[in-house]
Amino acid sequence: AAPVLTIDGPGGAGKGTISRLVAERLGWHLLDSGALYRLTALAAARHATPLDDEAGLAERAANLDVVFVAEKPTTAVLLEGDDVSAAIRTEQVGDAASQVAALPAVRQALLQRQRDFRQPPGLVADGRDMGTVVFTDAPLKIFLTASAEERAHRRHLQLQEAGVDASLSSLLEEIQARDARDMQRSVAPLKPAQDAITLDTTRLTIPEVVDRLTELLAQ
Ligand code: C5P
Repeated sequence: AAPVLTIDGPGGAGKGTISRLVAERLGWHLLDSGALYRLTALAAARHATPLDDEAGLAERAANLDVVFVAEKPTTAVLLEGDDVSAAIRTEQVGDAASQVAALPAVRQALLQRQRDFRQPPGLVADGRDMGTVVFTDAPLKIFLTASAEERAHRRHLQLQEAGVDASLSSLLEEIQARDARDMQRSVAPLKPAQDAITLDTTRLTIPEVVDRLTELLAQ
C-alpha cells in the first residue's frame, strides 16, 4: 500500500496548512477528513436532516455528492455541484460537524471514502483519528498541538483576514468546548496514537514545522 503520513490534533493547531504544504512538497495526495464531517453537516442542513437523526445522517454521509478540485493555493470543494469551499469553513458548520462526528454510524459511513484517498505515491491525512482508526498502519503518525490560547489567536487572525469580526475570548471558549467534545466522545476520541510523535507548534513557525515533518519522514 502507498505510504501515509497521519497528522491528527485539535482544531487550530495548524494541521490544515501544514498538511497541505507537506503534501505539496512531497507531491502526495491530501485528505482533509474534517471537510467530510463539515460536508455531512452542510448536506444535512440542506436536506433538513435533524442533527440527532443518526441513521439519516449516516445516509447523508454515505451518499455525499462531493468533488475536491485541486486549485492553488487551496482545494475547492463542490457539494452537489455547488462551490461550498467557504460555506463549510464557518464556525456554525464546524460546530455541527463536531456533533455529527460523535455519531458512530456517520464515522462508519465515511471510513472507506477516507481510505480510498490512499493512492501512490503517498497520502498526507489530516484529522482527529487518522492514526488511531483510519490508517492504523501508517509508518509515521504526528500529533500536532498548540496551546488553546495560541489556537484561538490563530483562528482570530484567520477570520480577520477573511474580513470576519470575532472576539478572542469567544473564540477561546468555542475552541475549548469543541476540544472537550472531540476528546470526551466515546467513538474515536481525539488522542495521540500510541506510536505517534507529538509536536507542540505553539512557538514554531509554519516553515519550521514543515521542515521538521519532512526530516522525520526522511528518517
Ligand atoms: O478539522 P475540522 O475543524 O475541519 O473538523 C471539524 C470537526 O470534524 C471536528 O471538530 C471533529 O469533531 C470532526 N472530525 C472528526 N474526525 C476527523 C476530522 C474531523 O471527528 N478525522
